[in-house]
Amino acid sequence: MKFISTRGKSQAQNAAEAIVKGLADDGGLFVPETFPDVEDSLESMLAMDYAERACFVLKQYLTEYDEKELLDACKKAYGKFEDNDAAPVVKLDEKLFILELFHGPTLAFKDIALTLLPYLLRKGCDISGIKEEVLILVATSGDTGKAALEGFKDAEGIKINVFFPSEGVSDMQKLQMCTQEGENVNVVAVKGNFDDCQTAVKNIFSSKEINAKLKENGVILSSANSINFGRLAPQIAYYFSAYLDLVASKEIELGDKIDFVVPTGNFGNILAGYYAKQMGLPINKLVCASNSNNVLTEFFAEGVYDANREFYKTMSPSMDILVSSNLERLIFEMSGRNTDLTESRMADLKKKGKYSITEEEKNDISEVFFADYTEEEDCLETISAVFEEYGYVCDPHTAVAVSVADAYVGYTGADAPTVILSTASPYKFSQNVLKAITGKTTKDAFNAADRLYEQTATPIPENITALKTKEKRFNEVIEKTQTVDAIMRFIGK
Ligand SMILES: *Cc1c(COP(=O)(O)O)cnc(C)c1O
Repeated sequence: MKFISTRGKSQAQNAAEAIVKGLADDGGLFVPETFPDVEDSLESMLAMDYAERACFVLKQYLTEYDEKELLDACKKAYGKFEDNDAAPVVKLDEKLFILELFHGPTLAFKDIALTLLPYLLRKGCDISGIKEEVLILVATSGDTGKAALEGFKDAEGIKINVFFPSEGVSDMQKLQMCTQEGENVNVVAVKGNFDDCQTAVKNIFSSKEINAKLKENGVILSSANSINFGRLAPQIAYYFSAYLDLVASKEIELGDKIDFVVPTGNFGNILAGYYAKQMGLPINKLVCASNSNNVLTEFFAEGVYDANREFYKTMSPSMDILVSSNLERLIFEMSGRNTDLTESRMADLKKKGKYSITEEEKNDISEVFFADYTEEEDCLETISAVFEEYGYVCDPHTAVAVSVADAYVGYTGADAPTVILSTASPYKFSQNVLKAITGKTTKDAFNAADRLYEQTATPIPENITALKTKEKRFNEVIEKTQTVDAIMRFIGK
C-alpha cells in the first residue's frame, strides 16, 4: 500500500517509510492511497482475539511488513494489557456500552498505539534500509510522554527523550514519568510551559546542524506524535473489535449500524473510527465530544475552524487543544482528496489561525459526524450521575463523552446502540473523580484514590499503587535554552 501526502507536493511512500518519516516532506500528513474494504471479512473476524483482529486490520495497510512477525508483535503489545484484552466492552444498559481503552501500562488509551509503535518503527527502519539508532523526541503535557516512555523502554535500536514543563503536569503524571524504568530512556523537566517544550523539540527537528551532528554519531531523529500513521493504524482495530464483540454477545446482528461517541482532542482517536467506517464497518454516526475548548464543535456546526480563542485548562487536560492536527486528514477526504485546497486551508490556519470549508463539505461531514461539548460543571455532574445510575466510575474525559452522548440522543432522537470510548482510568484523575462522587476534595492523589476505592469498590490499578514506592530516577530540571545539550549528553556526546 502506498501513502500519499494530504498536500500533494511530495512522493508517495510505502507504510514503512510513512511511519519512519512521520510527516511528509511537504508538511502534509500521510494518508493511504485507498481504503481497503474488509466488510466481507467481518464474519471471519468474529472468532479472532484482540491481537489477531488488530493484525488483520494492520496488514491491510502495512503490506510490506511480514504478517507472522506483525501478529507476534501484536500479541506481545496487547499481552501487556490487563487480562490480555486491550479493549473490553462494558454494558451499561440495553443500548449503551463503554469501550474501555485504559487497561494498558499507563492507564490511558494512547497505550494501544504506543505499545505497538516501537515495533512498527524499528521494522520500518529495517525495511527502508536505515541502520542508524533512532532517537525519539517527545514534548508532552502529560499522558503521551508516559505512554511513549513505557512503549519504547528497552526497545532495540531506539532511545527516547521526553521533555515536560516542570510546573505544567499533574503530580501523578510527573511521578509516572520520573520513575520510568528502562536503559534507553531520559526524562527532563524544562522550566517553562508546554509550548516551550514543543517549540524546543520542533526547533531540534528542523535544525540541519543538529541533525547532521546526530547523524555523525549514528543517530537519526523520529517522533511518536499522533499524526504518525503508526499511531493511527492500531486505533482502527478497536472500532472493529468493539463491533464484533457486540455481535458475538448477540447485542446486535452483523450488519446493524451503531454509533460511537469519542472524547476528542487532536482528532486521532475519532479519525481512526472514520477510517474503520471507510473500510466497511457498519457505523452510523461518529460523535465528536469536546470540553470547553470547543473549537471542533463550532467547526462542525459552522464550517469554520477558528483557533483564535481563549484556551481553557480543564479537568480533561488531554483534550485541551486548539489545533487538532489530524483534522487535516478529514478535510482532505471531504474535499474529494483535493490537495491544493487542503494545502491552502492549512496555510490559512498557519497564517490567520482560521480556515473555512464549503457548505456542501459541511453537509457531507454532518452525514457522518455529530459534535457537541461539555462544560466543567456538567462533566462533574455526569461522573456523579453515571455512578448513581449504573454504579460505573468514569474519568473526566469519558464523562465529557457520556454527557455529549446524552445530548446527541436528545437532539436527534437517535436509537442505534451507542458505544462510548473511555480513554483513561478514573484513578489517573482521582481527585476530580472523588470530588464529583463525594463532594470531598484532597490535595493528595493517592489519598483520593484510596477514598475513591472505599466509596466505589472499583479496583485501583496496580500501576497506580506501585508508583508510591518506585524509585525516582529523573530529577533534572533545565532552562529551555539547554535542551540540545541535554540530548547530546543523553546520547553520550
Ligand atoms: C489523548 C487523549 C484524548 C484525545 O485523543 P485524540 O486522539 O487526541 O483526539 C482523550 N482522552 C485521553 C485520556 C487522552 O489521553
